[in-house]
Amino acid sequence: RILQVSSKVSFTWYPASCFSSSSAPTVKLFIDGKFVESKSDKWIDIHNPATNEVIGRVPQATKAEMDAAVASCKRAFTAWADTSVLSRQQVLLRYQQLIKENLKEIARLITLEQGKTLADAEGDVFRGLQVVEHACSVTSLLLGETMPSITKDMDLYSYRLPLGVCAGIAPFNFPAMIPLWMFPMAMVCGNTFLMKPSERVPGATMLLAKLLQDSGAPDGTLNIIHGQHEAVNFICDHPDIRAISFVGSNQAGEYIFERGSRHGKRVQANMGAKNHGVVMPDANKENTLNQLVGAAFGAAGQRCMALSTAILVGEAKKWLPELVERAKNLRVNAGDQPGADLGPLITPKAKERVCNLIDSGTKEGASILLDGRKIKVKGYENGNFVGPTIISNVKPNMTCYKEEIFGPVLVVLEADTLDEAIKIVNDNPYGNGTAIFTTNGATARKYSHLVDVGQVGVNVPIPVPLPMFSFTGSRSSFRGDTNFYGKQGIYFYTQLKTITSQWKEEDATLSSPAVVMPT
Ligand code: NAD
Repeated sequence: RILQVSSKVSFTWYPASCFSSSSAPTVKLFIDGKFVESKSDKWIDIHNPATNEVIGRVPQATKAEMDAAVASCKRAFTAWADTSVLSRQQVLLRYQQLIKENLKEIARLITLEQGKTLADAEGDVFRGLQVVEHACSVTSLLLGETMPSITKDMDLYSYRLPLGVCAGIAPFNFPAMIPLWMFPMAMVCGNTFLMKPSERVPGATMLLAKLLQDSGAPDGTLNIIHGQHEAVNFICDHPDIRAISFVGSNQAGEYIFERGSRHGKRVQANMGAKNHGVVMPDANKENTLNQLVGAAFGAAGQRCMALSTAILVGEAKKWLPELVERAKNLRVNAGDQPGADLGPLITPKAKERVCNLIDSGTKEGASILLDGRKIKVKGYENGNFVGPTIISNVKPNMTCYKEEIFGPVLVVLEADTLDEAIKIVNDNPYGNGTAIFTTNGATARKYSHLVDVGQVGVNVPIPVPLPMFSFTGSRSSFRGDTNFYGKQGIYFYTQLKTITSQWKEEDATLSSPAVVMPT
């Protein structure tokens, strides 16, 4: 069912059910099954990154509203946890269908608020949808373990049970995919969920909440609050919240991991990255250069798995001019414009930060081979655009190498051997993703085994695992011990209960107390 859209709002694809009809629509809270206007006196403007026009306002929820949201999750938990797993699965089966039917609508909201191209926004929804589809196999994923006849008349078995109220804090760069890593997995296990989307891109989450409600999720099983630091602190501290899923920057993630853990919660935190693409001279040149350019500049580099660092090994160093030529051909435009390859950055501040990091490269002795800082996009002169930028002669001690740039900037290092390249990657503190480009199996195998990074692509530039696996970033890119989605996601959102059960026949009744530890 396609949601009705309001004809009164300036951006007609804002769903009427989620926004009021004022000229700058206000994003509602979702509390106890109702989309409600916040009573907050603190609001944050939402901008279209291609124009910097204000397109909506999101509230910083009041303490009373946040308390009401958690109370609603808590009230709904008992009945939802007691709902048969088959019924919970049915909700998810309807949900995946509704997401498919509304995929383009969700993508349009993403492009409007986040800036990425429509095709890329559809990919954002699609990768989240895959997690929902996988969550539909919960009936096998939730199976416990059994061991019969552990001793005479005694059996041992375990259940995977929900934790209670779980919470999610999401970043701006994947407005659909990342919330969909969180609440569907948690809820299908029997938990209820408090979601705090990124304050910059709340629209997709609101529409996803409406679709979940339409799929039959009972009131209170998902609640949504909005805000920044106060909402985050509230989630970290609230005694009724048992687990926190966080995706975002290291600054926020390390803080949330520490504060949430201190309050006795499980926390999983996916954080920043510096992903290296190692280019061997025996690689298929055509494929490699295209893949590198796509993975460095797609989504304007605002992906945690963007391949933002290339290490050219040996003769592959000579491929640099061709790399630059391909990057030059990318079309920078507003995300809803036909043919756009990359859109704007999320805010003027993000643009300034990226430009400063490019400046730092010049100051510290690197060479700017392609400079996107001065780009002007016709019709979108106020947008936060930076064109594809390539910095070469980069050394590991330079700021542009050490910092996650999170923009359309590829930094290029050189190495004489594979061992040297591996050392560079392993010396970098981040461990999110990496890729090697080669036609030699032994080289690929050596790299995959020796590189200390959680997700490795062999001739695959953005190796984000499919949902039957888990998202396994490591080292400074992750805090916690169980990852997002896949089996790991199920483990994160459940706790084990192990039952030791003895059924003796009557004539085997104990004749005296057993005071010794059973052996
Ligand atoms: P961010 O950390 O600024 O924001 C993420 C969330 O944390 C938001 O909901 C925000 O309201 C909240 N927040 C922001 N600053 C905070 C603070 N100081 N204290 C408490 N809460 C705070 O991240 P972002 O800019 O929205 O997203 C970009 C970052 O996310 C990049 O570093 C990127 O690599 C990372 N990311 C990682 C993954 C992954 O899976 N590893 C995926 C996507 C994005």
